[in-house]
Amino acid sequence: MSNKKIFVTQPALPPLEEFIPYLQQIWDNKWLTNNGPFHVDFEKELADYLGVKYLSVFSNGTLALITALQALRITGEVITTPFSFVATTHSLWWNNIKPVFVDIEDEYFNLDPKKIEAAITPQTTAIMPVHVYGNPCQVEEIQRIADIYGLRVIYDAAHAFGVKKDGQSILNWGDLSILSFHATKTYNTIEGGAIICQDEKTKQRIDLLKNFGFKDEVTVIEPGINAKMNELQAAYGLLQLKHVDNYIAKRKEIADLYRKLLKGVEGISYLDDMEGVEHCYAYFPIRVNALEYGMTRDDLYFGMQKHDIMGRRYFYPLISDFPTYKGLPSSSASNIPVSTQAAKEVICLPIYPNLSAEDVTRICTLIKNKLR
Ligand SMILES: *Cc1c(COP(=O)(O)O)cnc(C)c1O
Repeated sequence: MSNKKIFVTQPALPPLEEFIPYLQQIWDNKWLTNNGPFHVDFEKELADYLGVKYLSVFSNGTLALITALQALRITGEVITTPFSFVATTHSLWWNNIKPVFVDIEDEYFNLDPKKIEAAITPQTTAIMPVHVYGNPCQVEEIQRIADIYGLRVIYDAAHAFGVKKDGQSILNWGDLSILSFHATKTYNTIEGGAIICQDEKTKQRIDLLKNFGFKDEVTVIEPGINAKMNELQAAYGLLQLKHVDNYIAKRKEIADLYRKLLKGVEGISYLDDMEGVEHCYAYFPIRVNALEYGMTRDDLYFGMQKHDIMGRRYFYPLISDFPTYKGLPSSSASNIPVSTQAAKEVICLPIYPNLSAEDVTRICTLIKNKLR
């Protein structure tokens, strides 16, 4: 039994000796960034792996989000979820766009399509949903609404690496999807991200925007940013692609073990796999019903910490509760009751490829016995 702290995640690294030959190539050709050979290969292989046509890699997911909004010239108001990592809404703020929070549905914590239409105004230009915990949003319904009102759809798919629905990549829904390859995600390039788009012209525009707006040596056609991925990360990303199926398979084993061991614990619920979906097991959220369980989420959360189990209360606080956003009309708890309740009840339990079955069992025993 370990006496070390167990964190909610631990990054999966490839064997160091496998990375050395890649580094040797970089040292030999002395091309460190700016669309180098590894960058070119990586974009191709990653698109193939994911089952998407057009993909552009970025230095991180947040810059990918910010650039995605620039690429489609999104302005005015954008409908989004408060139940996400703060970068989702920050990307709107950095583009001078007003976020309009719409509540989530109670089952998978994703933006509730039934509540979108009431939030649309003449200023609304887009919807930015999040596939929270990697579980696909109700994409057909969201697209139906977007089509009626002429809105763009940009998915924050930071949790949804490799996720498929009915055999198709979830990333092919909407106008754009954004991935994050941050160290804490299912698939990492240390830091990194990508935009997935649906046509060549949009990819060209995204590639300009991530490189200062340079079209050629002397032509800057628009104010771009520097959001390029470097060669070391692209090489590391290529190597990680050889291992990611194994990472996901191990995460699935852990999720299945949690489900087996937590089944029937009164007041504790978890999410099952969705029908027809291939998951990436990015997180293992449980929901604590304080009345039924006999202990609040926070008592369980802080109590587990005393046993060195460092879960995380994703997503508490809601984005709408941070000072920047708190004053918005859509941030009031009465507008987003389901999100408000979820933020009080969720804990993400540790899940990562190297987490042992013994540790999962110990965590579940603690939960079952109410920390005794
Ligand atoms: C991780 C994450 C991001 C940000 O990605 P970075 O690569 O860390 O910049 C954005 N949105 C969500 C939902 C995330 O979980």
